[in-house]
Amino acid sequence: MSLRSARQPLSGWGRYPVYECDVYRPERLDQLSEIVASAPSTNLISRGQGRSYGDASLNQDRGVVLHDRLDRFLDFDPATGILHCEAAVTLAEIIDSLLPRGFFLPITPGTKRISVGGAIAADVHGKNHHRDGTISNQLLDFRLLTGQGEVLRCSREENVDLFWASTGGMGLTGAILDARLQLRAVETAYVENTTERCRDLDTALSRILESDRDYEYAVAWIDCLARGRSLGRSVLLRANAAPLEALPAAARNDPHAIRAPWRPSVPIDLPSFALSSFNMKLFNSAFYAANRDGRRITSYEQYFYPLDAVGHWNRIYGKKGCLQFQAVLPLSSSREGLVEMLERTVDARRASFLAVLKSTGPACDGLLSFPLEGTSLALDFPNTGPDVLALVEDLHEIVLRHGGRVYLAKDSCLRPDQLRAMYPELGRFQEIRAKYDPQQRFSSSMARRLGLEVAP
Ligand SMILES: Cc1cc2nc3c(=O)[nH]c(=O)nc-3n(C[C@H](O)[C@H](O)[C@H](O)COP(=O)(O)OP(=O)(O)OC[C@H]3O[C@@H](n4cnc5c(N)ncnc54)[C@H](O)[C@@H]3O)c2cc1C
Repeated sequence: MSLRSARQPLSGWGRYPVYECDVYRPERLDQLSEIVASAPSTNLISRGQGRSYGDASLNQDRGVVLHDRLDRFLDFDPATGILHCEAAVTLAEIIDSLLPRGFFLPITPGTKRISVGGAIAADVHGKNHHRDGTISNQLLDFRLLTGQGEVLRCSREENVDLFWASTGGMGLTGAILDARLQLRAVETAYVENTTERCRDLDTALSRILESDRDYEYAVAWIDCLARGRSLGRSVLLRANAAPLEALPAAARNDPHAIRAPWRPSVPIDLPSFALSSFNMKLFNSAFYAANRDGRRITSYEQYFYPLDAVGHWNRIYGKKGCLQFQAVLPLSSSREGLVEMLERTVDARRASFLAVLKSTGPACDGLLSFPLEGTSLALDFPNTGPDVLALVEDLHEIVLRHGGRVYLAKDSCLRPDQLRAMYPELGRFQEIRAKYDPQQRFSSSMARRLGLEVAP
């Protein structure tokens, strides 16, 4: 029964590309094992919430395993803050269940609508990478079902090679079944948030780097249509966890209450004129103007997940979707590389609604883990065809020239030679993959695009 698949079109959050895939949806772990052992699809890839932007969780004309029904909470110990759960549990479910009890995720990306398995496979980072690194830092261990049908516990002590190949390994080492995560006890569900407008890139960069010392969280939203002397002007949002005494009296009675804002939704795909550069310019200018300097108490929901407040917001890009681009540049070349990327974007008259600058700390041991010490820039572009692909291609070349790398969870068009140049541990990753999955039972459209499948 569980071996039956349904052919359906799938995409990532960017809605580009869209591929027909054979979709399996196991209800239990034994069914997942059965699928890996004997489903007729040539190979398979795991899919969590489909929030990676490109083709990481797609497998054109082959198998995709939806994990969403394998989502049980297995154990939580309030004395230690250790959570044990299946891989399809979402960060939102963890927060909904455990924030009211005073626990939060030490590392969280800009959306909570992702699964634990997807978070580990992309080794996600948050607004505190400069301090706390990626999710692998809060990960004690996980169990992985390999392409050979073995279930292996992976940690810093057991199957260490597989642990570091799988954190950031984009599902290509096997299916993560469950994981143990270290949560953090928090006094409140709020941050003390300082907003500061920075008039240009230099100001934004120096302020964001200074924040490493005094602020746990930092992110800058760039107006990526500002040019000339205003190039890179930004709104910088820096924050620290708010202690109980900082909250207004009304919130102190229930300091861990989740203040979910009203959640509007984009009901249909917007037509392409809605994303004209004129409208984008208006949006970017209005965002810059609307944010006044100041200090305020902000709920976690507002600070960490502003995009989650709008349901289906990816529909604003219309039917053709968007291309996301996120890269990190080393400290030494951050300024120069960022100027080049922003100028190229402005010249192309390709606005981005969401241009985000973050400071990143030292790299971890994940072989394909994305962050390295420096500065990360994320942009998104409506998919208007070859001109946008050419722009992203140019951005990739700039990243390469400055010794940086592109984030695979956001990517849909990097080339194999570029990947090799950006990720020096790729060869080691491929060796480990070949050791545990010699038949390449796990593969994906991204793996084939990036030349990660080797001839048997
Ligand atoms: C609005 C938005 C904001 C974001 N902000 C950030 C951010 O700040 N920082 C950041 O790091 N990322 C960010 N991301 C990216 C996102 O966190 C990652 O793409 C994450 O991997 C998505 O998880 P998912 O459950 O949706 O996984 P999917 O998109 O379904 O899959 C992603 C990868 O994980 C693999 N995978 C999924 N489940 C399993 C499993 N059980 N076993 C093995 N492999 C598995 C898939 O094969 C695929 O390669 C953001 C995405 C969005 C849409």
